[in-house]
Amino acid sequence: MARPAAHRDTMTPHSVLRDIFGYSEFRGEQAGVIDTVLAGDSALVIMPTGGGKSLCYQVPALLRDGVAVVVSPLIALMQDQVNALKANGVRAACLNSSLAQDEQLHVEHAVEHAQLDLLYCAPERLLQTRTLALLQNSQIALFAIDEAHCVSQWGHDFRPEYRELSRLVELFPNIPRLALTATADDPTRKEIRQRLGLEQSAQFIGGFDRPNIRYRIQEKNRGKEQILSLIKAHPRQAGIVYCLSRAGTNDMAEWLNQQGIAALPYHAGLSADTRQFNQNRFLREDGLVMVATVAFGMGIDKPDIRFVAHLDMPSSIEAYYQETGRAGRDGAPAETLMLYGLQDMVRRRQMLESGDSPEERRQLERRKLDALLGLCEVTSCRRQTLLRYFGDPLAQPCGNCDTCLQPPQTFDGTVAAQKALSAVFRTGQRFGVAHLIDVLRGQTSEKIERLGHDQLKTFGCGREFNKTQWNALFRQLVAMGLLTVDIEGYGGLRLGTGAAEVLRGQRTLQLREPAARREKTRINRQTLVDAQDENLFERLRLWRKETAEDLGVPPYVIFHDATLAALAGEKPNSLDALGGISGIGEKKREAYGREVLDIIAEHV
Ligand code: ADP
Ligand code: ZN
Repeated sequence: MARPAAHRDTMTPHSVLRDIFGYSEFRGEQAGVIDTVLAGDSALVIMPTGGGKSLCYQVPALLRDGVAVVVSPLIALMQDQVNALKANGVRAACLNSSLAQDEQLHVEHAVEHAQLDLLYCAPERLLQTRTLALLQNSQIALFAIDEAHCVSQWGHDFRPEYRELSRLVELFPNIPRLALTATADDPTRKEIRQRLGLEQSAQFIGGFDRPNIRYRIQEKNRGKEQILSLIKAHPRQAGIVYCLSRAGTNDMAEWLNQQGIAALPYHAGLSADTRQFNQNRFLREDGLVMVATVAFGMGIDKPDIRFVAHLDMPSSIEAYYQETGRAGRDGAPAETLMLYGLQDMVRRRQMLESGDSPEERRQLERRKLDALLGLCEVTSCRRQTLLRYFGDPLAQPCGNCDTCLQPPQTFDGTVAAQKALSAVFRTGQRFGVAHLIDVLRGQTSEKIERLGHDQLKTFGCGREFNKTQWNALFRQLVAMGLLTVDIEGYGGLRLGTGAAEVLRGQRTLQLREPAARREKTRINRQTLVDAQDENLFERLRLWRKETAEDLGVPPYVIFHDATLAALAGEKPNSLDALGGISGIGEKKREAYGREVLDIIAEHV
């Protein structure tokens, strides 16, 4: 595994990228970050999930003298990261509580004797006296602080032990620090800078676009079946289904298994052992579906997750982008589907208002929720809306989201909105949507008669729309803030700001045409290769699976899906030609080249 040390003098960032990692070009800001660290400077790096943060420290780790120390919060995932590096011939190791005593001594010895390129470590371990003493006696190339938003109380993953990393600033003043995160909001950024002593350091903000991810956002009508059709469009592929609650997660996982889909649950209510077991299976086996709450995902860098679904609406655009960003890290096509309905909006509002956070924080969260609702209802390109939110605008519609692929029909909804708003007003601003729809559609019931709502002017004035359509219209009015949900009560609707203007006819509204029937979700089957190459691709996958099992590593450590797809498409016939395939560095070409060429030769 040892790489001749003399090599280092002739290596450049580009040769490391090509020879070690098998890639031809740096992405976005990677080259700039790497140059900064090579010059001995610190930096803050903000890139979306899957944007390529790891290479920002892995490449300098191979070029600077000493060991690069990578701080990562997730002990459970360190070994996989180390294995992936080792498969490329990089000298990597981790220090954590899962190591036996002698393994630990072995790693410490390697650090001291400059025999390691990268050392992965959890913050609490790093700050132990023993580890700090070890590092002070060794040569350090850099500190990379991954998931750096964990230092911030504003971030959603605050970890007290991350705070203590401030000590690195005094203890190792001359070693470059690289803080990396996908969370971009201002308060978080400020706090990272301050805590990690990066006030004067360069900041790199990567392009936020993830062009290979297809975004779909749909009204929830038959939630589970809608998600199932997404899963069925991705046979034998891995994916995540996010649910809001633990009970919902269990229920969905069980239902999927009944439908013949191999699905595993993951949430904080399961024992640590079960969680670990399910996570390992998801990482190691091909084509499993993980049904999870937001407890699952941080640090999961499985590159071949082909779809991410949200059965329930997430909490914010940030959360949505982070969760969907877990799809398609390898750059091959991936798909997402978020479902939302009026019920989700009400529930999210209730969660937000019933928490015990200070008012300032709540206001921030209200704005975030409103932005998310805006994204759900938008009738123009989803990606443009997302990227505008992250301050990285996209000039043209993307052509790879649902609104680009099937532009929604809109209509002048002013009159419909007036009817809905006036039904809310005339019933006293305290009823939920089901009752309001009964009033609009002129449905008599004991309740309606008792309340005298059949005597109202609006009673029966909205028979032109059925229940489903009215539901969709109400949802849009809530999303636009024209109606607000009464939080303490039972989801009663009240008029919001701007409602008066609409009622007085001073403002017209363009709305999404509500579908007359509950439509079935149709998603075409997605494959990574052309039909004629599918057999070869599947054969390569099988070989990868067996090889990975023999070595006890996840399949993606051998090759990513995107690499297998390129092999199946281009069918290289020599070791030389193999080197041109993205994701095959020198080490992997040596290790697997012959076997792969043989499989390809059998198929041509
Ligand atoms: P994150 O920013 O989420 O940490 P990663 O560092 O895991 O992202 O990178 C995401 C994926 O992109 C990885 O599978 C990695 O191999 C791939 N990748 C990163 N940089 C490049 C590049 N310059 N060329 C090709 N693939 C890359
Ligand atoms: Zn688009």
